[in-house]
Amino acid sequence: MKNFKRIGVLTSGGDAPGMNAAVRAVVRTALTHGVEVIGIYRGYSGLIDGDLKKLGYRDVSNIINKGGTFLYSDRCPEFQTPEGMAKAVKTCRDFGIDGIIAIGGDGTFRGATELTANGVPCIGIPGTIDNDIASTDNTIGFDTAMNTVIELVDKLRDTCESHARCNVVEVMGRGAGDIALHTAIASGATAVIIPELPYDVSDICRRVKSARELGKRNFIIIVSEGVGSDVGPALAKTIQAETGVESKFARFAHIVRGGSPTLKDRILASTIGAIAVEELLKGNSNLVMCERKGKIVAVDINYALILDRMYKGKLKEGDLDRFSEKELAKMRSEVRAKQANIARLYGISKTINL
Ligand code: ADP
Repeated sequence: MKNFKRIGVLTSGGDAPGMNAAVRAVVRTALTHGVEVIGIYRGYSGLIDGDLKKLGYRDVSNIINKGGTFLYSDRCPEFQTPEGMAKAVKTCRDFGIDGIIAIGGDGTFRGATELTANGVPCIGIPGTIDNDIASTDNTIGFDTAMNTVIELVDKLRDTCESHARCNVVEVMGRGAGDIALHTAIASGATAVIIPELPYDVSDICRRVKSARELGKRNFIIIVSEGVGSDVGPALAKTIQAETGVESKFARFAHIVRGGSPTLKDRILASTIGAIAVEELLKGNSNLVMCERKGKIVAVDINYALILDRMYKGKLKEGDLDRFSEKELAKMRSEVRAKQANIARLYGISKTINL
């Protein structure tokens, strides 16, 4: 064990159900190891401004079931400047913060790796509903968001069935189609549009027509926000014009970000939070904690961020320079496996949802 006296915890970027459960686990695990915990409010903004509060065991009571984040979140462009970083490091020195657990998405991890490079060891925890972090199978909040989507879609399906109607639904996900694809399967959507794969509007219209000929009355089409905000509304109009089925558009937007976390998210948040603190106290840092094949494992943040860029086709010049041939081969194989999984799920959704 390294000699940590006090660590900080923050939530940053887009909020997600389960962030509170993760903070709770971090606080209680650290206290059990005799390490104090400082709650840093409003993400990196609170680190710059010194918006801090010491958290005791009972300060995280009654939050395992609460959505949002009681530490609040923020986007903090100042943290990306040398002056902002210097202020953040000074706060850590002034308040004796020996390390930080940062809960958020890839932006938050970029901040965490910068902070580590500036002398404050950090570990990241993936908290975002979008599941858009390639190094982990699941992010905290993803399961809750999907459950909210299917609950809402089930309600739309009731009314679509009564009126023989189609409803095009846009769901969040940023650049990732994970929420859309999984909820399309789980809600029996007639079609799904995700940014990872090409789509064909005429084919979607054909699917609606042939399903109607087979006696189907309700039609749900799920569209991921990653394909652009015009796609869903335009698709509803086209389906109505081409098939004669009355079609409406609904954007679920931020409603899917709120609510009480599911059992799966609470367990993921609690275990990942506890293990993250154990790693930090062992003296390890610059890591993101990931769930892979049901196990919580620590992945180097730089590996995780570059794997992410590779998966999203956003590699920049020089990104791959620091990795060995063996690491690159591993990354490429991980990317292929993820792509194959998406393609397979997409194929299944088309086969069984007509
Ligand atoms: P998310 O963590 O959900 O991806 P953002 O991309 O908004 O959300 O990132 C959250 C915060 O992390 C930003 O407001 C900023 O303070 C910090 N951050 C993002 N990118 C960087 C970076 N390249 N260097 C330092 N800090 C960053």
